[in-house]
Amino acid sequence: MQWEVVIGLETHVQLSTQSKIFSGAPCHFGDAPNVHACYVDLALPGALPVLNHGAVERAIRFGLAIGAKVANHSVFDRKNYFYPDLPKGYQISQFELPIVLGGQLTFPVEPKTGEPYMKTINLTRAHLEEDAGKSVHGIVSGHSGIDLNRAGTPLLEIVTEPELRSAEEAVGYARALHALVVWLGISKGNMQEGNFRCDANVSVRPKGETKFGTRCEIKNLNSFRFLEEAINYEVQRQIEVIEDGGKIVQATRLYDPDKGETRQMRTKEDSMDYRYFPEPDLPPLVLSDEFINKIKDEIIELPDAKKSRFISQLGLTPYDAMVICENKETADFFEKAANGRDAKKVANWLMGDFFAMLKRKNLDIANSPVSAENLGKLVDLICKDVISGKIAKDVFEIMAETSEDPEIIVEKRGLKQVTDTSAIEAVIDAVLAANPDNVASYRGGKTALIGWFVGQVMKRSQ
Ligand code: ADP
Ligand code: MG
Repeated sequence: MQWEVVIGLETHVQLSTQSKIFSGAPCHFGDAPNVHACYVDLALPGALPVLNHGAVERAIRFGLAIGAKVANHSVFDRKNYFYPDLPKGYQISQFELPIVLGGQLTFPVEPKTGEPYMKTINLTRAHLEEDAGKSVHGIVSGHSGIDLNRAGTPLLEIVTEPELRSAEEAVGYARALHALVVWLGISKGNMQEGNFRCDANVSVRPKGETKFGTRCEIKNLNSFRFLEEAINYEVQRQIEVIEDGGKIVQATRLYDPDKGETRQMRTKEDSMDYRYFPEPDLPPLVLSDEFINKIKDEIIELPDAKKSRFISQLGLTPYDAMVICENKETADFFEKAANGRDAKKVANWLMGDFFAMLKRKNLDIANSPVSAENLGKLVDLICKDVISGKIAKDVFEIMAETSEDPEIIVEKRGLKQVTDTSAIEAVIDAVLAANPDNVASYRGGKTALIGWFVGQVMKRSQ
């Protein structure tokens, strides 16, 4: 039997506001437990939530960037459930009327076998909600503790239609979504700190079948590798259950990266179980078109627009543009380096020696020893014939070690190319005079010797 995989992702993106979504306590990771939990986060009776403007503004920016409808009217709801890290007994979220509806994302997919391709999928919605606290084990011996520093952290939950068809497509989507939210400046996107977590809904169906199979939801995947491994394991598990004559039970599962398997956490609750109802402590969120349009005007250039401009105005190939626009830091670095010079040459250096150097030194572009200005200057030295392309590679290696300005390196080390032709001719004459046998062979037809002569001239002229 041939099986088709169906995947829909729900991604929780932590928004990069200073303070929480409904209180003034700071959003700060890694501090002692409960130092960033105010009366709202502690759910003291009578404490009232106040919506953070910055979280709303970031959600709108996201909606506009993916071509979604930003709702003029959205509503916060209470999602009721019990958990020790949720002192209110409910999470404030959005249910029937979310702030962002629809939209699309296009991303590259690199399948294990076969050629890379582009895919576009539809998003269902994105809504604002608060994060819960955390249970911590091991701080108080023999007990679990509750840390409410994270309680009330603003999240944007982004939901896709079930249009992904493999683990590789899910990873392609997640990577592109991650790059976009960081690009937009709405999230720090720090995955180790849990700023970007995916829930993967996975089902399988016989090829050709139009009805979806029963899905399982794997919770809280916080790395691209875990996302891929968890989906592949889950697909295999579901196929085996069905082929053995069993049935998939709709359930929430957890991925154990050490064992490489998913295991059932609870059978699936329906939204009914949460007894959603409108949050009485917050009025509906009403956004005027003017307000939304103002944010639209302020939005920075998006990756696709930047790519097109790099291709049409700066002469990059589509491949160059895709690589350079993979994240905003690289695109910004490139623009700074290419400013006022041969952009294609800068792109070649960036994607060649520069990326290789970062990889070798295991560095991010943000801590590159070679600055954008200095990379640009190096290209200038080549374009103005001050140094040859070959010497430029040596200069680049020195720049990578010392962070020095290439002009200074060239000056100090006397690496300037001799462009005075009479000086070069004198060296050529000397080489010819010193090698009469090879001159005779060349004249006799061994023209391949020209390379050898060039080498001799380079050696003699240093
Ligand atoms: P809930 O919010 O209860 O988890 P939703 O209906 O909103 O349920 O769907 C959540 C996610 O599951 C969406 O991304 C959706 O695309 C995906 N999904 C729904 N049905 C299936 C299915 N049969 N197989 C795989 N994914 C699915
Ligand atoms: Mg869900």
